This record gives sequence, C-alpha cells and structure tokens, in this order.
Amino acid sequence: MSRFFSPKFETLTPYTPGEQPKSGAFVKLNTNESPFPPSPKALEEGRKELERLNLYPDPECTALKQKAADVFGVNADEIIAGNGSDEILNFAFMAFCDKNTPAVFADITYGFYKVFAEVNGVPYREIPLGEDFSLDPSDYAKTKGTVFIANPNAPTGMAIPVQAIEDLLKSDPDRMVVVDEAYVDFGGESCIPLIKKYDNLLVCMTFSKSRSMAGARLGFGIGNRDIIRDLQTLRYSNNPYNVNRVTAAMGYGVLSDEDYTKRNCDEIIGNREYTVRELKRMGFQTLDSKANFLFTKSERIGGETLYEEAKKRGVLIRHFRTGRLREYNRVSIGSREQMDVFLKTVREILEGQ
Ligand SMILES: *Cc1c(COP(=O)(O)O)cnc(C)c1O
Repeated sequence: MSRFFSPKFETLTPYTPGEQPKSGAFVKLNTNESPFPPSPKALEEGRKELERLNLYPDPECTALKQKAADVFGVNADEIIAGNGSDEILNFAFMAFCDKNTPAVFADITYGFYKVFAEVNGVPYREIPLGEDFSLDPSDYAKTKGTVFIANPNAPTGMAIPVQAIEDLLKSDPDRMVVVDEAYVDFGGESCIPLIKKYDNLLVCMTFSKSRSMAGARLGFGIGNRDIIRDLQTLRYSNNPYNVNRVTAAMGYGVLSDEDYTKRNCDEIIGNREYTVRELKRMGFQTLDSKANFLFTKSERIGGETLYEEAKKRGVLIRHFRTGRLREYNRVSIGSREQMDVFLKTVREILEGQ
C-alpha cells in the first residue's frame, strides 16, 4: 500500500480469480468457462465491428438489448448491459445497499459479493447454508437488507426452485432481491418472468458461461424499469461505454443463435452426469449440481492433495482452503475428452496413494 491509498480501503481484501495459466498445456477445469468457442454468428458479428473501433460504441446497446428483449420475453428498458455481470452486481451493491440496508448473502456463495460490499463500504450479513449446503430462503425473509442469491449457487452447484424466490419477494415487497443466474442454463429455473410481477427483483445473467464469451465480458441486469433506471444512473456516472462494440455485436450474434447455446448446454449437462457417475464409482460424493461444475469430495483423498496432484499432472481444478469447503474440489465441466483426462488423472492419483 502506498501512502496515498485511501485509508478506507486499508482492510479491503480483493477477489482472487482462478488461475489463468499462460501455457495452454493444462486441462483447465478451474474457472467454469465453456470448452466451446463462441457461436459462429457471434464471431461474424464481432468481426464486422473491428474496423469501426475508431468510434465509441452505442452507450445504450440498443440492438443488443432489443434482441435480448425478444429472447427473454421482456422490454428493452427492463435490461441493462454490463462489462460482465460482475459490473452489474457491483452497481447493485452501490444502488441498493447502504448503512441502513445491509447486503445479505450466504456464507458459502460467490466470493465477489463480500468484496463488492467491502469496496462500496456497505455492511453485510452472511447467512450459513445448511449442513448439507442447502439454502433455506425463509432464513432470508427474517432479515433486513438487500438479498443476493446465486441460483444455482457457487461453488456448490445446488439450485432452489423459483417458487422459493417468489415467496421471498412476496414476504416483503420493500426488500430488494438480486438473483444471480450465472449458471441457470445448465438445469436451473430462471426468475426472469417474475420481473413483470415484482418490482423488487433484479436478475443478473452472464454471457461468460453458457454463451462461451468469458473473454468478451458481457452480462445483463434484468428487472422492473425503475430499478434498471437506477442502475443506468450509476452506469452513466461510472462508464457509459462499458460494453465495447465488438462485445455488443458478439452478444447480438450469440442471441441470434440460441440453438447453438442450447446444444452446448445439453452437452455440458451430459458430460456432468457422466462425470458424477464415474466419480461415484471411485468413491466420490458430489453435491447435486445444476451448473457447469461439480463440487466433490472423497474420504480417500484430501481436497488439497487432489488439487495439488492433479495440477502436477496438468489438470487444473479449483480448491478453496476455507472451513467446510476444504475437503472438496470444484471441477468445471468441459468437453468429454477433457472429462476423460480428468477422470483418468483422478484414477491414477488414487492408485498412487
Ligand atoms: C462467473 C460468475 C459471475 C460473473 O461473471 P462475469 O464474467 O462477470 O459475467 C457472476 N456470478 C457468479 C455466481 C459467477 O459464477
């Protein structure tokens, strides 16, 4: 820390992204990216914009939002586009939390929520998941504050039904609920239709996982037009050109190619179920995942040992050192070939124990 750094950030602990190794030598199953390239339509639309990069992008992302409105069955003014959904989540912490309205989220969830609360100087409360990592929405109905729920949750992969979210929305119409649907396309149920009925709901979605665009940085907030307008006020006060031309065009392209996304998701789901079965045969217990990753452990090997041994053999998975997570590893679901390399590696590690 330099002597110029504001003391208000003295205790700030930044988010730790998963490793992004420089060499392509790893089978990379640590950051929940898609193993598939972006849709050919996304590439085609994106390429056309390269020669127009001398011009600022449309700050409203008009074409992209209109396309998204058609795909998601909402109006364009019920959508805000962000530089990844992380940016929208950050705006939501800024907009809907303050010292009287703490952020409320699970003790085990997306690690960035805590960082957003800290960097924005808002208090937060963590609600413990159940012994079995289940999330009980009634725990949240009892608290005061803006609720953030990842559904499916990370790193557990477990999902709750839309009905449970609806009950929470209804329990207090003056409470904002932010549902982070980063992984919804892999077997979860989306709350987007509820935005027509509830003005206290913001749904965040990302193009980084099911739509193969993690490197392009694109995400949406979807909600009632008044809350979207609040978020737009913050966006125009931070970075009106937050979504670049190439990315907006790619987003438009991939949303014109929903079959491609659906096919890829079906393949990931198939590979996930296959991997769960094979791991089970080796004695692993895996939480019920509706996401493009698994959270798994075995009595036969410690979480950290498996992570280290797999890395030595060129397979990167994600291990969290904290509390209840230590015995587990989070394994992103890749192509069938990648999963076979992973499974073979685990088998070898167990045999060498
Ligand atoms: C990956 C992820 C995001 C953010 O993704 P962006 O790349 O910023 O769009 C948000 N929430 C959860 C739970 C995620 O796993």
